[in-house]
Amino acid sequence: MKTIAIILASGIGKRFDKSIIKQYQYINGKSVIFLSAIAFKSNPNIEKIIIVINKKHNAIAKKCLSEIDNIDYVYGGSTRQKSVFNALKFINKYKPKYVLIHDSVRPNIKNILINKIINKLKNHDAIIPVISINDALKKTNNSKVIEHMDRTKFSLAQTPQGFNYQQLYKKHKNNLTSDINDDSTLFQNIHYIKGDINNIKITTKNDLIFLEHKMKKEKIYIQISGIGIDIHKFDTLNEAKFLVMGGIKIKHNKSLLGHSDADVVIHALVDSILGTISEGDIGNIFSDKDPKWKNANSEIFLKHAMSLLKKHKCKLLHSDINIICEEPKISPYRDKMKKNIAKLLFVSDKCVSIKATTAENLGFIGRKEGIMAQCITTISKPYNE
Ligand code: ZN
Repeated sequence: MKTIAIILASGIGKRFDKSIIKQYQYINGKSVIFLSAIAFKSNPNIEKIIIVINKKHNAIAKKCLSEIDNIDYVYGGSTRQKSVFNALKFINKYKPKYVLIHDSVRPNIKNILINKIINKLKNHDAIIPVISINDALKKTNNSKVIEHMDRTKFSLAQTPQGFNYQQLYKKHKNNLTSDINDDSTLFQNIHYIKGDINNIKITTKNDLIFLEHKMKKEKIYIQISGIGIDIHKFDTLNEAKFLVMGGIKIKHNKSLLGHSDADVVIHALVDSILGTISEGDIGNIFSDKDPKWKNANSEIFLKHAMSLLKKHKCKLLHSDINIICEEPKISPYRDKMKKNIAKLLFVSDKCVSIKATTAENLGFIGRKEGIMAQCITTISKPYNE
């Protein structure tokens, strides 16, 4: 594996609530630990998530994270360092190149920061995000200011911190008895990047209230793809003037046979949309035994699929269509078809791709007996809705 994220959640912390510790508090209906974990889960550069939990919190942790799959749990040790080391030892079997270590009580972590850290790890062994200090900085002791510091010489460190896995593992192993609370202190050369002022660490109830407002409007979206395929054969008995594909008329001396208008492109597209929301297939919604759909305009099927997509609160992002046939030639109609499909999907032309190929004279397509269309549609879906 290339990159693994370790999320530390085994601390008891200072309780600002009588019973629930910070990582198990809720922000807009989601637990803090869930929000931290889902940020890494939704990043395609992270191959595995390890959550370090306190043995006593086994049940609550797994309940909070039950909606996220592919998580490994590791029990924390008596100190932060032991907890990190337990996780580092555990992931040795995955042979990761990089490891990111994050505090679970920073739930407002964004993918842009995670990606910046991973990118920098290509050239450095230790990367930390930092933010500058805006207030005047004083050294204090016993209710007295003892020194006025130059704040421009200082920064505040955040997590996730990124490391070369082998280096970090070795350094932890050689320093098992020292209780460090910041992994980067084990390194001589640490590079920093600009952190995110909203990636705050929950320390007080006020932080929780601040994040509740900050994260309210931000829904978590995931992308899902669905696949569709359809085949129709040519009507070889009757001379025709055109066939219908992608909702437009294409000049051809053979039309396609089917119960409806036999629009092979729209049918593949409808199935790919239904696939994204696991709503079955075009055949079980619009049965070819039902006389209602005899010679039906396939745009009706597409409209229905789009209304189901809306019901699931999903947004169509892109449809990539392949048409496989020896004839008719698709290229003269490609732009018109693309525009029509984009209109039916309520997206811009850029979100529709139409490609065409032949079967090199092989098989039923090669013998010009019919046309095949394939489609992959990608949608965006609110997580857990
Ligand atoms: Zn069909």
